Amino acid sequence: MILYPHLSVNGEGHLTIGGIDTLELAERFGTPAYVMDENTIRQNMRTYMQAAEKNFGKGALPLYASKALCFAEIYKIAKEEGLGVDCVSGGELFTARAAGFPAERIYFHGNNKTDRDIKDAMDMGVGTFVVDNIDELLAVNSEAARRNIVQNILLRITPGIDPHTHKAISTGNVDSKFGNAISTGQAMEIVKDALKLPNIKLNGLHCHIGSQIFDVKPFASAADIMIKFISEIKKECGGFEINELNLGGGLGVKYTDNDPYIDYAAAIGDMAEVINKFCRAHDIKTPLVRLEPGRSLVAAAGITLYTVGSVKEIPGFKNYISVDGGMPDNPRYALYQSEYTVCIADRADKPKDYKATVAGRCCESGDLIGENMDIQKAKRGDILAVLVTGAYNYSMASNYNRIPRPPVIMVKDGQARIVVRRESYEDLIKNDCLDNPVG
Ligand SMILES: *Cc1c(COP(=O)(O)O)cnc(C)c1O
Repeated sequence: MILYPHLSVNGEGHLTIGGIDTLELAERFGTPAYVMDENTIRQNMRTYMQAAEKNFGKGALPLYASKALCFAEIYKIAKEEGLGVDCVSGGELFTARAAGFPAERIYFHGNNKTDRDIKDAMDMGVGTFVVDNIDELLAVNSEAARRNIVQNILLRITPGIDPHTHKAISTGNVDSKFGNAISTGQAMEIVKDALKLPNIKLNGLHCHIGSQIFDVKPFASAADIMIKFISEIKKECGGFEINELNLGGGLGVKYTDNDPYIDYAAAIGDMAEVINKFCRAHDIKTPLVRLEPGRSLVAAAGITLYTVGSVKEIPGFKNYISVDGGMPDNPRYALYQSEYTVCIADRADKPKDYKATVAGRCCESGDLIGENMDIQKAKRGDILAVLVTGAYNYSMASNYNRIPRPPVIMVKDGQARIVVRRESYEDLIKNDCLDNPVG
C-alpha cells in the first residue's frame, strides 16, 4: 500500500490503482489522465452516511460538496449512495440535474447567485437555498413570491473562527466575503429579516470554517458559537427554533507522509458529542446536523498520470522533471503551495533517492506540481504519478496555453471506463467564431 489501500505496487514494480497497472492505463487512455478508484469514493460516502445516521439520527443526510469534483458520474454515485449534494453555480446545478440527481436533495450555495441562477434553481425545484446576504434574501423572496411558492432556506453565518489553515481556504473569519458575522450583529439582523418575509421558510443556519482541517476542535468551537446563537434567536425571536444546523465541510485529507490520517467516523462522533452537550447547556433541542464534505470524499480516490518529457539537472542548483500536464490540470501548488506525493509508476518499488522539482508544460515559472520532491530517478518516457488528486484538480482545471483537459478514468473491480472524455482540439475552438468578418 502507498498512502491508501487502493494504491499498491505489482510484481513488475509498477504502481497500481484499484488493482490495475497504471502503465496499462497510461498506454490505453493516454496521458495526462485523471484516474479514480470508485470503490474508495463509495466507501468514503458510506463512512459519512453511517456516521451521520448513527450520531445525528435518521434523516441526517451528509451533503457532498460537489465543487471538489464535478461531473455527471459523480452525482450518479452520490445519488446511489443516498447523499445530498451542495452545488455552488448554475453549471453545477445543471450537471446534477443532467445526471438525474433529485432536486430536493440539492443545497444551493454561493455568495453571489445571479437572478438567472435563482430562477433556474427554482425551475428545477432545488430543495434548499443557502442564502449568503440580504440582497440575495430579498431576490429569493421576490422570485418565490412571483411563483407563489415558499422557498426553504438556510442562512450562511460567519462564526468568527480561524481554523489555522491556508488563508485562501479559510472562510469562517469575521472579515470573510462569505456569510453574516454574529459578532457584528449582522447575523441576527438577517435572521429577523428572513423571518418577516412571506415567501421564505427559514429552516436553519449554515457555516463553513475552511478546508484541510485535521482537528475536531475548530468544528467544536464553531458548533459552540452557532448553538449559542441559536439560543439567542430563540430568546429574541419569540421562541423561534432553528431546525437544521449545517456545519459545512473541511475535514482534512492525508496528501503526504507528513499529514495524519483522519478517522472520519470518530471525528463525526466527537462532533456529535459536543453538539449534544452545547445544546443541553443552552437549553435548546438538538437541531438536525448536516455536514458537507468535499475533499474527504474524493481526494484520496484520485491520481494523475503524466508522461515525463525531460529531466534537467542544473549543477549546484536543482533538478527539474517536466511532465505533459501541470497547472492547467492541477493548479493547487500554484494557488496554495499544496504538497503532494509523487512517484515514477514504472519503478514504484524502488527507493525515492532523487530530489526534483516537478514542473508542468506551461509558459509560467510557477507552473509546478511541487518543489524539492522525493522521487525515483526519471527519464523521458517514464510515467509519473501524482497521488491524492481526486479533489480540486479536475474541478479547477483550465485550458491555459490551449491545453485540452485530461479525461477522467474510473476504475472499479479490475475494470476501467471513461467517465469524462479527453478534450479534443476541436473542443477548444468550438466557441470561437471563426467566420466573423475582420474589423
Ligand atoms: C468548499 C466547501 C465545502 C467542502 O469543503 P471540503 O474542504 O472540500 O470538505 C463545504 N461547504 C462549503 C460551503 C464550501 O464552500
